[in-house]
Amino acid sequence: MEGYERASRVYTAEAASGLQWMGPFPNLHDAQMWVNKIIRTSWWKKHCPRVVKVLCEYRPDKVWHRAPSISEAGVGRVRFAAGGLCQGVALHELAHFIAWSERQDHGSEFVRAEHALYKQVMGEGIAGILKVSFVEWGVWPSD
Ligand SMILES: [Zn+2]
Repeated sequence: MEGYERASRVYTAEAASGLQWMGPFPNLHDAQMWVNKIIRTSWWKKHCPRVVKVLCEYRPDKVWHRAPSISEAGVGRVRFAAGGLCQGVALHELAHFIAWSERQDHGSEFVRAEHALYKQVMGEGIAGILKVSFVEWGVWPSD
């Protein structure tokens, strides 16, 4: 499966799970506080030592594409599209930091990272719903 098709299937699986737009934030500040709590956990420090801080930003000029980035100092940037300021999007973007690749791919490592992050932050039940959808859309690793 090529990169674009793969990404598209991951997005579709997230949407089909009903979790993609879960937990809307009223503003960027609340999103930042929620993300900070995750970044401060020992779980995050263990699974993503390359990112020590995350800045949440708006990208009102872009409707969908919101590729995250990491500076040399370990500062990650999450860019929320207008209307996409929610926990589901934040978790997707944070999973990119855990399974970091310059190409922002959505391969096996990414899918496992997102599932592990969901399990840690939202609990086993919600993470299980996401996994079922990944399996249904053919993006959950078979090994
Ligand atoms: Zn992505």
